[in-house]
This record gives sequence, structure tokens and C-alpha cells, in this order.
Amino acid sequence: MRNDFTKNYDVVVCGGGVAGVAAALAAARRGSKVALVEKTVLWGGLATTGIVFIYLPLCDGNGTQVTFGISEEFLKGGMKYGPGDIPDGWKTGKNLEEAKRYRTVFSPASMVLALDEMLQETTCDLFVDTQVIDVECNAGRVESVIVANKSGTGKLKAGAFVDATGDADLAFFAGANCPTMANALACWSLEYCEGAKGSDFIAPNIRASIVGMCTDKDFTAPGINGRMVSEFILAGRSEYRKKLQKDYESGKSNRYTRFPLKVPAMADFRHTRRIDGDFTLLSGMEWQAFEDSIGVCADWRVSGKVWEIPYRTLLPKTLENVLTAGRCISSQEDAWEVTRVIPVAALTGEAAGIAAALTAEQGKSSREVAYTEVQQAMKKAGNPIHISELYPGK
Ligand SMILES: Cc1cc2nc3c(=O)[nH]c(=O)nc-3n(C[C@H](O)[C@H](O)[C@H](O)COP(=O)(O)OP(=O)(O)OC[C@H]3O[C@@H](n4cnc5c(N)ncnc54)[C@H](O)[C@@H]3O)c2cc1C
Repeated sequence: MRNDFTKNYDVVVCGGGVAGVAAALAAARRGSKVALVEKTVLWGGLATTGIVFIYLPLCDGNGTQVTFGISEEFLKGGMKYGPGDIPDGWKTGKNLEEAKRYRTVFSPASMVLALDEMLQETTCDLFVDTQVIDVECNAGRVESVIVANKSGTGKLKAGAFVDATGDADLAFFAGANCPTMANALACWSLEYCEGAKGSDFIAPNIRASIVGMCTDKDFTAPGINGRMVSEFILAGRSEYRKKLQKDYESGKSNRYTRFPLKVPAMADFRHTRRIDGDFTLLSGMEWQAFEDSIGVCADWRVSGKVWEIPYRTLLPKTLENVLTAGRCISSQEDAWEVTRVIPVAALTGEAAGIAAALTAEQGKSSREVAYTEVQQAMKKAGNPIHISELYPGK
């Protein structure tokens, strides 16, 4: 393959969704030389390009905040250049007896601007419109990723890599086992709709239109090849057209009172591939303590369930210097539902960025890096590590 450029880093982060941006920030803030590579031109992944704009809760639903750090920075940053609000109790302090959950909706474009700002305050080398298309790997160690952009194809070499592609592209290219799962069809859009209100409401007359189907007509393909991705995107937009047409024909709205402002520029897959990690987090493991926990998250679907996330869920079994983050970490069932969402993708991203920086600094395998060092750095950045710190006596 032609090689038009070669660059050297400590850490290369593949994918600039919330997980990847958090990883790049965490590694760069430690002083590592970092590259962040994103195939679209926007940071944020599904949360911005995919128009999924509900920042799910940082708290347990019973008044205790459990997730902090970069995840909280993103929640607040997303409201800096646009609408969004959090319940009053969370504005004035922590751990309030406030049943309303610490979450917000945000404008995807506002979030992009905030992520730009945070990244540009670091020394990260930022590549947009650049896709990771392959890896060079030797005995389980990734030596470089091959990228393609306007310059042609190039090699980014590093001591450690973070796979934050959402689809475990890097782990897959490096030969790691990557389980898959089917998806229900989804296509979120941002639209103008006079009189819009409800939980999908961002600002007066601006809301999400959520096309998601859970019937026997479901699109159940796992989205692991180009054809499936194209079909998923086209089927989603076709359903959206039908929804608009139905409204227009019934007279409920017309082309001026309801119309699309933005449709997703990436497939709204919840899951394609994920890694098979040194440990897989499963249903029933809420409230469980793990010695190697990297942080705590809450179940967004119900109040009162919290989870520790083991460091081992970030480590693809057969790879030595790759950490995963976000929706492709090693979790399944209920644990996947909890760890795949925006606030938790940011949390695992922050931990993966720190661990990748340590891997590169120490020239070791990521599984030889002492998890206690990752924990110390996470703690220093404001993240609780264990449930027991938040609920004394548990
Ligand atoms: C329909 C739907 C509704 C959802 N609703 C919510 C919700 O309301 N609230 C919530 O908190 N969560 C929700 N989620 C989940 C959440 O949005 C995502 O799981 C989370 O944002 C994942 O973040 P990530 O960074 O792991 O991955 P992604 O957001 O997928 O980011 C991956 C990034 O990597 C880039 N990339 C991929 N491959 C390559 C490559 N080869 N080279 C370079 N770049 C690459 C992509 O372009 C993308 O920017 C929803 C998800 C879906 C699909």
C-alpha cells in the first residue's frame, strides 16, 4: 500500500466520539503526545453526528452523583453554546436529596463547539475527515494504524492505542475476537416542529424526531459490513419520510410547521462489534465491587442501581497495547445497556486514555500496567473509583 506520511506519537486514539474525545483529553492532560483520528468532521459520534442528544444521568436517581470527571465536563460543556438545563438541585451542590436526575438535552452542534474548545486547549494532534483503515500488528502489539485522508494514506505509530470507534474497528483489524449483536432500526433527526414539547424537546419548536422500530419489521442486521450500514441508513430515512408524509396528509402539520433540520450523518447503530475482553460485565453485577474498578456509573433506566466498571473490560484478550472505550467495551446484557450510553462512554474513555498513556510511558503491555495507577489518576481527576466511597457502609 502507498505511504504518503508517517508520524510518531505516544498514544493514538481511533474514533472521536465522546469516548475518544475523553480518552484523548485524559492522555494529553497527562503530558502524552496524542493523535485523535475521526472519520467524520465532527467530534461526538452518535451524540452529535448521530443526533442522539440526551445526556443520560450522572446520578443514581436517589440524589447521589456517581459519575464525575470528564463526563461531567461534557455535560456542562454541551450547554455552553446552546440550550439545555439540569434540575435546580444539581446546580448548587452535590449529593442533594434531589430525585430529579442529573441529566440534560443539548444541541448537537453546541456540543461539537464545546468539544473543539476542550481539545484545542491541549496539544493533541487532531485529525478529522481521516479514517483508520488498517493496522500493523506484531505478536499482539499494534505498531501503527493506517489512515486515509485527503493526503492519501499514512501511518500513525504509537506506544499505545485506544479503540474508541464504537464498532471495535481497531481490535477487529488487529485480529481480536469481536462478538456482534442485532440492532433495531433507528434514525434520530433534529426537526423544527411548531408547538413541540416533551422529553425530546431541546428549545422552543426544536425537537428530536425519533424513528425507532421494535416490531417484526425490525432491521436486525448487526451492521458489520458496508452493505448493512447502507441499508440501515436508507431504511431509517425512508421510515422518517413516511412519518412526515403521514403527518402532512392528515393535516396535523405541513412543510412549514414541521420539517427536518438535520438527519444523522452516521448510522444510529447501538451495537455492531464489541471486544471480547479479559472480563465481561454482565447482568446482575450491579452493586458488585471490583478490585480493578476504574469508576462508577448509574443505570439510566431505573433509580438505585449502580455499577463499578472493571479495568479488564477495556482490554481485548489477544492484544497488548490496545484499550477500548465507549460502546464497544466488554459488557453484555444489562451491563451493556448501562455502559454504552454517553456519560459512561466518557467515563471509560477517560480511563482508557490514562491507561494508554501509562502503557506508552512504561513500555509495557496494558495488562501489566498496575490498575492502581489508573485508579490513582482517575481519582486525582475527580472520579470516585468504588461504590463504597459514595455509599459508606455498602
Ligand atoms: C438510536 C440511539 C439512541 C441512543 N440514545 C441515547 C440517549 O438518549 N442518551 C445516551 O446517553 N445514549 C444514547 N445512545 C447511546 C450513545 O449515544 C452511544 O452509545 C455513545 O454515544 C457511544 O459513544 P462512543 O464514543 O463509544 O461511540 P460513537 O458515538 O459511535 O463514536 C465513535 C466515533 O468513531 C468514529 N469512527 C468509527 N470508525 C472509525 C474509523 N475506522 N476511523 C476513524 N474514526 C472512526 C465515528 O465516526 C464516531 O465519531 C443511543 C444510541 C443510539 C444508536
